[in-house]
Amino acid sequence: MPTLLEVRDLTIEFRTKAGIVHAVEGASFNVERGEAMGLAGESGCGKTTTALALMRLLPYNGRIVRGSISFEGRDLVPVPEDSMRAIRWKEMSIVFQGAMNSLNPVQRVGRQIAEPIMLHEEAEPEASFKRAGDLLELVGISRNRLNDYPHEFSGGMRQRVMIAMALACNPKLVIADEPVTALDVMIQAQILDLLERLRRELHLAMILISHDLSVLADTCEQVTIMYAGKTMESGKTMDLFTDPKHPYTQGLVGAFPDIRGPRNMPEAIPGDVPSLISPPSGCVFHPRCKFAFDRCTKAEPALTELSVGRRAACFLYPQVTEVPPRPIAITEV
Ligand code: SF4
Repeated sequence: MPTLLEVRDLTIEFRTKAGIVHAVEGASFNVERGEAMGLAGESGCGKTTTALALMRLLPYNGRIVRGSISFEGRDLVPVPEDSMRAIRWKEMSIVFQGAMNSLNPVQRVGRQIAEPIMLHEEAEPEASFKRAGDLLELVGISRNRLNDYPHEFSGGMRQRVMIAMALACNPKLVIADEPVTALDVMIQAQILDLLERLRRELHLAMILISHDLSVLADTCEQVTIMYAGKTMESGKTMDLFTDPKHPYTQGLVGAFPDIRGPRNMPEAIPGDVPSLISPPSGCVFHPRCKFAFDRCTKAEPALTELSVGRRAACFLYPQVTEVPPRPIAITEV
């Protein structure tokens, strides 16, 4: 059986009045069936753009310049929009960033969950509403609330409704873009537990996008760290968190307080994410990197295999195996 999702050298640009924005450059990763993969990095590093490209939902001024998105062995990049409609929601779905605020305020939630089932599965209204009730219960809300309006739900419950909608057509892969941002800590834990339970019970694959590494720590087997549209490091979650190799990953991990061991102050990464219209020469991270040396300003490090399943793009490590032309496999098969 082929890998569920294989992304190779995905490169995405946006045309804007200010110039061409190089939003994603050469993203490559795998997601296996039933596996959770985390995409992490600061805001504006290309995580959401990557997610939208996977769903082929880039805005009008965005385009995939090169690369492939192979879903069950079929490249989705050249697939016509008509055929994409049969894949979107039925094969892979997305919980959009800030989605809990995008429910239609004047429509009952049952109707909003049932609609994609009627549309994509051509199911009868009665069967669709029954499934909507089942989905509500699956995410921990009584089916008696099918006729309630969004304003009658708390933020956490609205996020559960959005997750129910993403599951409406039994997809194999769910992309959750910042699913717990803007929720308080207790509700965050409940939503993450829910996603983890659904993944195990439904054998779902998941791409969890977050700027918060702690969100990914318990949920994902693999993590890819992005910065300024490029992959900086990838590997098993625990390896990345306990022994980060790339200076950017070290900075992200160091920016979080650790309640174990001696009390150390979290350290912020100095500087800002660079402009993606005119990114820095050489290593894109060099203006913020405390280890930068002359070569870093002139040449770009290749994503290099450090050990099995572990890759980093940094001159501090020997540049032995460059990613192109060899494809990256985040999960070793
Ligand atoms: Fe820092 Fe140089 Fe490594 Fe880039 S290549 S992360 S600038 S040491």
